[in-house]
Amino acid sequence: MVPLEHRPPDSLSTMTGSIKGLERFDSPGKGRGLRVLKAHKVGDLLFSCPAYSSVLAVEERGDYCAFCFNRKKDLARCGKCKKAFYCNAKCQKADWIMHKLECSAMVAFGEKWCPSEITRLVARILVKKKSQKEPCLSEKMMQLGEMQSHLDDMDSEKRQTSESDMAQLHHFYSKHLDFPDHQELLHLFSQVSCNGFTIEDEELSHLGTAVYPDVALLNHSCLPNAIITFKGTSAEIRAIKVMKPGDEVFISYIDLLYPTDDRNNRLSDSYFFICKCQECKSRSQDKLKLKVQKRSKKEDVSSMEHYARKAIQEFRAAKICKTPSELLDICEQSLEKMGSVFEESNVYMLHVMYQAMGVCLFMEDLEEAIRYGQKLIKPYSQLYSPLSLNLSSLFLKLGRLYLTVDKHPAGVNLLKKAMAIMEVVHGKDHPYLAELSKQMKQK
Ligand SMILES: [Zn+2]
Ligand SMILES: [Zn+2]
Ligand SMILES: [Zn+2]
Repeated sequence: MVPLEHRPPDSLSTMTGSIKGLERFDSPGKGRGLRVLKAHKVGDLLFSCPAYSSVLAVEERGDYCAFCFNRKKDLARCGKCKKAFYCNAKCQKADWIMHKLECSAMVAFGEKWCPSEITRLVARILVKKKSQKEPCLSEKMMQLGEMQSHLDDMDSEKRQTSESDMAQLHHFYSKHLDFPDHQELLHLFSQVSCNGFTIEDEELSHLGTAVYPDVALLNHSCLPNAIITFKGTSAEIRAIKVMKPGDEVFISYIDLLYPTDDRNNRLSDSYFFICKCQECKSRSQDKLKLKVQKRSKKEDVSSMEHYARKAIQEFRAAKICKTPSELLDICEQSLEKMGSVFEESNVYMLHVMYQAMGVCLFMEDLEEAIRYGQKLIKPYSQLYSPLSLNLSSLFLKLGRLYLTVDKHPAGVNLLKKAMAIMEVVHGKDHPYLAELSKQMKQK
């Protein structure tokens, strides 16, 4: 295990401004954090933070504006590279300072143009840093330079990834960028990999990556009292529990479906700390999450848990190189094997069923996707907190599937459940909700 991180104490001199109703402070045992100065009820917007820099995923081009991440039909295409799409000339013009890093390079390299998303984001950050004179609107409480890098905690595999990202940066962006020295660049890459946020849509599909220095101040808890959602490229933080003045704001950095050891493996691997929240101390949900069939032998259970963790890892790797039908076979085999010891509501079973649902959707086998989705609904509702994005996204996915196969009442029922969550976590005025209402009215 990686030891608990010790962030340096706060230096107030680096603060660049303030966000109304919030205060940066030294959180005991956690380093810097953010706390509220007044009481909040569930659904209150604590703050909204524009992206310091953001980049749209290559796969989402054409569906989202590369500048503002607005989702709409009939986006206009960059005439030169034909690969970037925009709402209008205004968005295109505003994005040019960033897009010019890639526009001609994409034409020149053609099929061989393949920088990672983090490389693309770092290129943008370098441009922004150079052009920026004063702290920007995403740096009211913390500046980009203050973000943790954990460079010394990186294992050789992570270092290697950073080195290859840096090589890509030099390869694809040399024409438009002046590079800082190797160590400084390595530091920036590690900062972005520890503090970058994945922007996801309402079904939790990956849209892109961005950095929000102020949001990076928020510490993690497995019992979070706040949640982060995205509107365009901006991050919005809302209360999902009642808060009193002085309460620290906690979000979750990870998927909270999994038992304590798995959560902490993930946290120490990606963020270099061990969580000490109430749930990590009490492990009160672990037994429910790892539900096994009655009369299972203890040694069978522990060897099956070992198998499940390995199978999940192997599946992640298989996704890159196997065909969808091979992937589905792998899922079915794992489910059969695990099903001899685990209950269907065991989180490892749920993990595999969720993956299988995704593969079926990709293969456009809607009936099978629905079959898997249905099995997830009840255990997800028990295991996730009632205001979880994982829960709302499952309701959405399955609800929309029902509508597609003309099971209208079942579909609308699930979309209503999704909507109830989204009204709180996304806010009632989010464009996703308007889209959803429209969808529910269509027959
Ligand atoms: Zn736009
Ligand atoms: Zn272009
Ligand atoms: Zn925890």
